[in-house]
Amino acid sequence: MKHIKQNTVILGGGLTGLSAGLILKENATILEKNARPGGLVQTVNRNGYWFDHVIHLLHFRDDVTEAIIKDLLKDDLFPIAPLAYVETTEGVGKYPLQMNLRGLNKEAITKTLTDLAKVSFNIKHDSAENFEDMLRKSFGEYFCKLFMFPYNNKVWKRPLNSLAPSGFQWNIDQPNFEQVLNGALSDNSDFESYNANAWYPSPKDDSKVKGMEFLSYRLSKEVSDLRLNHTVKSIHLENKTVVAQHGNEEIEISYSNKCLSTIPLPHLIDICQDIDPKFKSAKSALKYNRVLSIMISIEGPRPENTGHWRYYGQSDICFTRLVFMHTFDPKLAPENGWGLLVEVIEPSEWPIRQSDEIINEVLEDIGKVNAIPDDCQVIDKHLMVVDPAYVVFTNESKALVEELKTYFDKNDVKLLGRYGQWEYSSMAQVMRDGFEWAKNLI
Ligand SMILES: Cc1cc2nc3c(=O)[nH]c(=O)nc-3n(C[C@H](O)[C@H](O)[C@H](O)COP(=O)(O)OP(=O)(O)OC[C@H]3O[C@@H](n4cnc5c(N)ncnc54)[C@H](O)[C@@H]3O)c2cc1C
Repeated sequence: MKHIKQNTVILGGGLTGLSAGLILKENATILEKNARPGGLVQTVNRNGYWFDHVIHLLHFRDDVTEAIIKDLLKDDLFPIAPLAYVETTEGVGKYPLQMNLRGLNKEAITKTLTDLAKVSFNIKHDSAENFEDMLRKSFGEYFCKLFMFPYNNKVWKRPLNSLAPSGFQWNIDQPNFEQVLNGALSDNSDFESYNANAWYPSPKDDSKVKGMEFLSYRLSKEVSDLRLNHTVKSIHLENKTVVAQHGNEEIEISYSNKCLSTIPLPHLIDICQDIDPKFKSAKSALKYNRVLSIMISIEGPRPENTGHWRYYGQSDICFTRLVFMHTFDPKLAPENGWGLLVEVIEPSEWPIRQSDEIINEVLEDIGKVNAIPDDCQVIDKHLMVVDPAYVVFTNESKALVEELKTYFDKNDVKLLGRYGQWEYSSMAQVMRDGFEWAKNLI
């Protein structure tokens, strides 16, 4: 076995690991199991049709991260004014629907406002017990039944009252009655959603990397020791060693300072040799969902007025979102074509179905919502499974994650990232966390 000594070792070369590596430079070695850096943030090229693995729009929350990334991507990064629509049985409205009720029929608007008034002006504000309760207390019964419940049932496919009331909130815009009323009566264009300050890369025509993966690619050029195709097999807390498999070769890395883990937390527990055994059995509380990304290449005129993506609240439609890739960057498809990225979500513990079965179900439902016009032709379809994609928050899992963070911290292992610390975070958030953690180390 080959031995290496390093100050800090980083498990995983997604955005979290790359951001920490960008600051730590030669003081860190990044171990990434895939052949390409970026983790979730990768983009597939299927004969000139480019698809992000999952929908990805960059929205900054803090000035430092924004400055670093803008400096890195320079004039290859473009602002986008995100436009998304929500389809329901009672009409179509701009996202977030609660702020743009105008698209619904009059009866649905009246019922939404009546029930929202009941919860908004209820003086007794007891806290929500679970996710379902939180939605009901925030939006009122009617809007929940129209959109929030059927949509979230499709996302989580678990009883909503078994989920924790918090953890998901950053992308659920809490309604203020006045703003909702405004959006019911007029175009609520003054309302800024969480993703208003949004950006997407559009590199030069000859770039070998396109889509959001361009961000991963640029970050990866800034780190000193990124080892691709290196799968971390084990970690020993007391010895401060990590073993990685690279082809037929095993490499042991001793770290004198810290280990940063961005790999999925249940996986870290599995490969940790000397972890307190109680965590091995507690691990089953860490549930998660996968995303089935169906990438459809289409020849024919690009549809107009689709928005960048659309949400589907109807329970008889299997997908949660349709994403129109060419609206993010027109260069993501040949001029006479466009790419449609379909998002289906299901619990990771469900047995995975045959890809043909999934694709046929998706195409049938695309027909129901008329998303592919008659003058267009599907020329390629491809299924990619992203697992884990959404961590599931329960009161039990939240308590366990806190305990694990403290435990690993004491053992010089920092948990960070969307799956490393089991959270619902955006790209900008995980990059900020990576930068900040690394800056505090030096
Ligand atoms: C459906 C969906 C939509 C999203 N949309 C947006 C959006 O629009 N905007 C936004 O800002 N964010 C979005 N996000 C969130 C964003 O993608 C994540 O926050 C971010 O990519 C997480 O980066 P990470 O480095 O923490 O995790 P990851 O990207 O998962 O990186 C972890 C890395 O660890 C590697 N790894 C795992 N096991 C091992 C091992 N044993 N050995 C070595 N390496 C290993 C993996 O290969 C991976 O590269 C979305 C996420 C999902 C799922």
